[in-house]
Amino acid sequence: MRYKIIPVTAFQQNCTLMWCEETRRAAVIDPGGDLASITAAIAQEELELELVLLTHAHIDHAGATADLAAEFDVPVVGPHLEDKFWIDSLAQQSQMFGFPAATPFEPSRWLNDGDEVSFGKVTLEVLHCPGHTPGHVVFFHRDSKVAQVGDVLFNGSIGRTDFPKGDHPTLISSIRNKLFPLGDDVQFIPGHGPMSNFGYERKTNPFVAGKAG
Ligand SMILES: [Zn+2]
Ligand SMILES: [Zn+2]
Repeated sequence: MRYKIIPVTAFQQNCTLMWCEETRRAAVIDPGGDLASITAAIAQEELELELVLLTHAHIDHAGATADLAAEFDVPVVGPHLEDKFWIDSLAQQSQMFGFPAATPFEPSRWLNDGDEVSFGKVTLEVLHCPGHTPGHVVFFHRDSKVAQVGDVLFNGSIGRTDFPKGDHPTLISSIRNKLFPLGDDVQFIPGHGPMSNFGYERKTNPFVAGKAG
């Protein structure tokens, strides 16, 4: 598995292009906007897009989903059904944050904890990690120990929980009980900002370091 991070939108959201080196088949995780940058990366690496994956449905993560899926005629997979209300409110989110109007869409498949998604010969494990949004999912590639965690956990910080249906204790539990057990040596791509690994965050992140729970 290989990947390339493409920061998109004014929020510099870490849209991630992941692909199978053997088959050159790819997935885009969280196409929040700047469609031209995403399609340019796919062309540059000479990949065949197979899937669009969503961690959650905030506008900076999902804004260009429908347009990207239509351009390549590929399905949208994820997030968890609990984020449907965020997908349904993409138009309002566009207005609120001054984004271009997002084309509405319905995922081909909602994801649940323990599901798997595949492109080429790469399989990602799905973890339901609510708290930032109720339907937030994380994608984990066990072989290379890389996770795309969206807005659950950041380098030195954690996701906001002041949105509708956000919940701080639930988020902390998702990080401590779902993400950290994957291993200290797992590198993660957060929704924004630089990468880190779970061990470093478990020891130093002021929001989740220290006592287990
Ligand atoms: Zn978010
Ligand atoms: Zn975000």
